[in-house]
Amino acid sequence: MPSAAAIDPARLHAALRDVFGFDTFRPYQREIVEALLARRDAFVVMPTGGGKSLCYQLPARLMDGVCIVVSPLISLMKDQVDAARSNGLRAAFLNSSLDLEGRRDTVGALRRGDLELLYVSPERFAMEDFGTLLRACRLSLIAIDEAHCISEWGHDFRPDYLALGALTDTFPEVPVAAFTATATLKVQDDIVRRLRLRDPLKVRASFNRPNLYYAVTPKTDAQRQILRFVLERPREAGIVYRTTRRSVDETADYLCARGIRALPYHAGLDDETRARNQEAFNRDEAQVVVATIAFGMGIDKSNVRFVLHADLPKNIEGYYQETGRAGRDGDPAHCLLLFGYGDIPKIRHFFDDIADPDEKRRAERCLQDVITYATTHACRRRRLLGYFGEPFAQEHCGACDVCTGRVARVDATRDAQIALSAIARTGQRFGAGYLVDVITGADTERIRALGHDAIKTYGVGADRDKRHWRRVIDTLLAQELAVQSEGEYPTIALTDRARPVLRGEKPFYMTEQVVEPRAKRRKAVASADVFAPEDGLFERLRALRAEIAAELGVPAYVVFTDRTLHELAAQRPTREDQLIGIHGIGEKKRAQFGARFVQAIRTFGAAG
Ligand code: ADP
Ligand code: ZN
Repeated sequence: MPSAAAIDPARLHAALRDVFGFDTFRPYQREIVEALLARRDAFVVMPTGGGKSLCYQLPARLMDGVCIVVSPLISLMKDQVDAARSNGLRAAFLNSSLDLEGRRDTVGALRRGDLELLYVSPERFAMEDFGTLLRACRLSLIAIDEAHCISEWGHDFRPDYLALGALTDTFPEVPVAAFTATATLKVQDDIVRRLRLRDPLKVRASFNRPNLYYAVTPKTDAQRQILRFVLERPREAGIVYRTTRRSVDETADYLCARGIRALPYHAGLDDETRARNQEAFNRDEAQVVVATIAFGMGIDKSNVRFVLHADLPKNIEGYYQETGRAGRDGDPAHCLLLFGYGDIPKIRHFFDDIADPDEKRRAERCLQDVITYATTHACRRRRLLGYFGEPFAQEHCGACDVCTGRVARVDATRDAQIALSAIARTGQRFGAGYLVDVITGADTERIRALGHDAIKTYGVGADRDKRHWRRVIDTLLAQELAVQSEGEYPTIALTDRARPVLRGEKPFYMTEQVVEPRAKRRKAVASADVFAPEDGLFERLRALRAEIAAELGVPAYVVFTDRTLHELAAQRPTREDQLIGIHGIGEKKRAQFGARFVQAIRTFGAAG
């Protein structure tokens, strides 16, 4: 039974401040911590960046015994342990990467009761001597990270996780907490059942990530668009997702050739290269990782400032998970999707391999959700949350391209009629490129040979550029007023939905990027706070952080997060005691890094 002192709110709050340097709990953290302190099981769905680790680390500090943390990725464990240790928690890990000596040290510390947190991989539980070891220890609680790995319904089933179902039997006195960022209710029930959680506190945190800005831009020339986007953010780290290994390599090369520190990441690279590239990114040595979705769970970096999808994702769930890797530190971050209709047939091509017709229909529906997300003129955040069954009360979120007025809905009925009649008058036998040529009145041999320079629509769209007409056609396809055939030379035909628009009985709307005049844009950016303005001191502190991270051999965010650096740069504390209350600085970090940062601020002040 918990002692009254264990759940005293003042004590909780003091621990939050002294260990983690935080003033307040994030949503649900307090409830979860309190449940665990009261030795109740918990089941927690929280989006990436929601702050799951604190939910078990704080009880681990306040309870007797050691908290066992089950984590699926060996490659991640060392960073997790480093991060916990940097807050002064007595943490260690046991996995196959340890040499004999490291293993002996950890087991010794465990036996002596010196550890608060022990990170282990699930396969440990299959080892007899590990069970014996644990039974000889006093356990405070068992935390299971990425708990969806136990469910075959989830997207990341790992058979090793099944062994965890026996934990509540083996350790009936020890509370078990399961954590996941996977949203569906089906997976949720499966996890609770398989782990045999006993009347757990169930928490489904909001999936809303207020600090993420969502935007969709028509894809014109992906590489150049990526380049421009990255150049606009010279000091911000980010991930560029691409679909194929080849496009990953090409984009990484393209960016590197233009002076950007970009590294590729995909399943075709050997383990060592992958680990090295990931580590360089974690340590702020590379600005950009260009990756396939193979780059996922291993990213624990909290200061990812943007996630750019250069190709269309297959479903919203995956898209949301990937964008969720941005802004875990709570600072503003930018999620951009480049949407080109040309990506859709490529994805449908994958569906051809799906044998089960139900499965195929489901995949098609998922894709349609993505297309709707990308093409309709409604708050992006509302759409995303709606997809997870979460209502969003406000009409406008204020942090997406639609709500900030960067995307306008325009009546494009006339343009749609022009494009549709071009399709009809050329016999529904041509592709988008040819149709655009006809509409804009291009003087080509092929058009003359086919006599299409004589049809009524020839050249009527010459007042707009080809890109515009391409977008009109893309939108007709996305809204299913037209369909495109499969194959190497796809042709476009009309659907039933085209008729009312052609007859003028129904309007046709398109979304359009609002291009702001340059001067105005710069001002808007500075005040939007989405892109932090350059600050000399911030850069100095960042360099110091990188230096310390390199000395310690840990990722930069383990030293301080971006948010901590921003607060330091804004408040400019010149004495160590002024560091109390700065976000992310608890007692351990103040003692360990305080003097050097304060010194850097003093030096900067004296120079400036
Ligand atoms: P998750 O495991 O849910 O993806 P983490 O536990 O890694 O998330 O936490 C994400 C980020 O949020 C970390 O940078 C962490 O320091 C920060 N964080 C967690 N809890 C709080 C809090 N109560 N106040 C401020 N920041 C927090
Ligand atoms: Zn919005």
